[in-house]
Amino acid sequence: MYELKNHTESVVKQVLKEYREKCSLTCSCERCLADIMALTLNQLPSRYYVTTRGKILTQWEADSLPDRTRVLSAITRAVKQVESSPSHPISKED
Ligand SMILES: [Zn+2]
Repeated sequence: MYELKNHTESVVKQVLKEYREKCSLTCSCERCLADIMALTLNQLPSRYYVTTRGKILTQWEADSLPDRTRVLSAITRAVKQVESSPSHPISKED
């Protein structure tokens, strides 16, 4: 089984996790997190590679990966966008 993976997505997931440990989100439900992921990934170049059973089969240029600073600023922008127009009504109780 060959699988396509986007390395940028793994980087974004990791940086978003760290972001959430430092800053709290207005809403951190699955829907809002998915919106943040999508908006962040749309700002960054994709870096796909082929993997089988977790083994990477294609090489990619590590240097061409978006750096953490760039990922973090994309996340910050996405969070602001989701918070100003969330996909669902935000209840103040949560
Ligand atoms: Zn939400």
